[in-house]
Amino acid sequence: AHASARALASPLLDDVQEVLVSEQHIARRVQALGQQISADYRGREPVLIGILKGAVLFLSDLLRALTIHASVDFMAISSYGTGTQSSGVVRILKDLDHPIAGRDVLIVEDIVDTGLTIRYLLDNLRSRRPASLRVCVLLDKRERRQIPVELDYVGFEIPDRFVVGYGLDYAERYRNLPFIGVLRPEVIRDQGGR
Ligand code: 5GP
Ligand code: MG
Ligand code: MG
Repeated sequence: AHASARALASPLLDDVQEVLVSEQHIARRVQALGQQISADYRGREPVLIGILKGAVLFLSDLLRALTIHASVDFMAISSYGTGTQSSGVVRILKDLDHPIAGRDVLIVEDIVDTGLTIRYLLDNLRSRRPASLRVCVLLDKRERRQIPVELDYVGFEIPDRFVVGYGLDYAERYRNLPFIGVLRPEVIRDQGGR
């Protein structure tokens, strides 16, 4: 399917060096996570908090895989840091629309790398006194971890490579790739100053 798509000379697919997690693997794993979360939260009504913008595709598929009542809210954050290096100093660009005190909260994130961002989110949301607080993350780059964080639901563990697709960007591009992939090195070089 990928080969025939490439034959169409897509300017998007041409930038991809390698597919790490296929569309089909993502779909199957997200269904399984949805079933597990539905079972774990049975009789409760969690609020899923999507972290903009990377988690949007994952959240929308996960939400459709739930068989329990659930609501959705969003936070947008920006982390200060140089290039691809996260500093752990986080600024809230958009806060939640609704209070979460007494609610069962599930953070939905695209990827945990050093762990600094998710640690900030956990500390920030915990101070609002939710009934419970868990993390569901699509991708776990475990070997890059700088501080320990407990991840309750993980889609895939991936190696230490910069990935794009299924919501994850490089310079705001490639979020619309249906799979998780790695870009060709010359793409990173050429678009680095965009
Ligand atoms: P952490 O604070 O855990 O180091 O970084 C988490 C954030 O860094 C993610 O939410 C994401 O925005 C960004 N990030 C880390 N690794 C990658 C990657 O491989 N690809 C992309 N596109 N973003 C990444
Ligand atoms: Mg993120
Ligand atoms: Mg990004």
